[in-house]
Amino acid sequence: MANPAQDLGGKLLAQIEPRDGGTWVALAGTVTEIADFTPLTKLRSPLRLDLIGIERINSLGVRSWIHFVRDCELAGLELSFERCSPVMIQQLSMISNFMGTRSRVKSLFVPYLCPMCNAEQLSLLEVAPNGPLMVPPTIPCPKCRATMHLDELEEMYTGLLDGQGPRQRAYSTGSR
Ligand SMILES: [Zn+2]
Repeated sequence: MANPAQDLGGKLLAQIEPRDGGTWVALAGTVTEIADFTPLTKLRSPLRLDLIGIERINSLGVRSWIHFVRDCELAGLELSFERCSPVMIQQLSMISNFMGTRSRVKSLFVPYLCPMCNAEQLSLLEVAPNGPLMVPPTIPCPKCRATMHLDELEEMYTGLLDGQGPRQRAYSTGSR
């Protein structure tokens, strides 16, 4: 059935499938400096990267990741990121080119915590192609129906994807 996952090294696995004329890649595990992304840069564009499986990324892994995204963009690969895990969004909030300069974030998981029953919930948020990212500050708890709160600083999401895509990017150069 599904292809066996490819080991990229350092506890990072890639599930690779041809889909819709391009390639779908689900990454899972930890991104470290040992991860070798080279096999992914040779896949057929457009590349859809599913990132919910990425649980950790260390500081040298951040550098490898940024080089990978840059190499893909330089090679003319069209990249999009789907179902981004909270750790990847945290990096994106700190490093503006973490998801490249031409690539798009299509959807991300937002973490919520219930103060009543301590339930944790990841809620999938689809990103509209235009307009600001709208992250609900609260959602109802699926377990006890109390109000769950965002388990990140709300400011982290402010302006997070404002510069994404080739058109808006031209306006954001030079500003902080
Ligand atoms: Zn609850």
